[in-house]
Amino acid sequence: MPGATITVGNVEITAVHDNEGALPLSMVFPGVDAELWVPYQQKYPECFNGDNNENFAAHFDCYVIRSEGRIILVDTGVGSMATNPGAVTAFAGGADGRLLSDLQSAGVNKEDIDTVFLTHLHPDHVGWNVNSDGPSPVPAFPNARYVFHQDDWEAFRPPRDSEVFGLTFWEETLAPLEMAGVTEPLTGEQSITSEITAILTPGHTPGSMSLAIDSGGEKALVMGDVFHGPPQVSEPSWVFAFDADPDTAVQSRNRMLDRAEAENAIMAICHSTGFGRIVSQEGRRYWQGL
Ligand SMILES: [Zn+2]
Ligand SMILES: [Zn+2]
Repeated sequence: MPGATITVGNVEITAVHDNEGALPLSMVFPGVDAELWVPYQQKYPECFNGDNNENFAAHFDCYVIRSEGRIILVDTGVGSMATNPGAVTAFAGGADGRLLSDLQSAGVNKEDIDTVFLTHLHPDHVGWNVNSDGPSPVPAFPNARYVFHQDDWEAFRPPRDSEVFGLTFWEETLAPLEMAGVTEPLTGEQSITSEITAILTPGHTPGSMSLAIDSGGEKALVMGDVFHGPPQVSEPSWVFAFDADPDTAVQSRNRMLDRAEAENAIMAICHSTGFGRIVSQEGRRYWQGL
């Protein structure tokens, strides 16, 4: 079933789930000693799993945003063994994701989506881009433009300098979009509707972007992998293993925290389910779920 729906002025945002996984903290945050996690394991138990809470309970969530009659899907999850087998095996133990049925439960047909906004082009965010049921793969959302940053396209398009998690996914999930002529690479900030702006939040990948929503005096920030879970709201200098440029990633986290706090914005983080805001206690920022 879909997750929470919130309204931000006239904009409606629904969290939709694709999959869940367990990522060992020692692997995804190699620079953070185990004991430093303890206060966060107590404060946010839902964000950890394993016998000793030694794993980050990673959600692979996407968002449906309704604005001015438009329907925007943010990211397309890990996908299925048919659409994105490498990532589904690596991140979800081979279990197909449920984004498509979750969209239906949320009252959204694939044809209704006019924009697929890809926060970045990592393999766990592009999994349902394509429908591979037929003789050749075609865009899964037939009336959508697929919007992302040009820098990610150039970074991940083969031949590239380095592997992405050692997975192949380009030919399966992105090449068919280019063949179909539905890609829309951005080179900077861009209005999606008059209430939604794509903004630059690089570091995790060169072209990572987020959405800033501003409607009726209310604000929200829908971020891809700028943050990996609520603890990073308090610890923005904790580097995630897959941050391509750690220094820039830390800068983006700090900038987004300053902005979210100044605007009292609702925040959404792809790998942590639900929505939250920043609260300050004794000079420290914390995530507070809505
Ligand atoms: Zn990522
Ligand atoms: Zn991710």
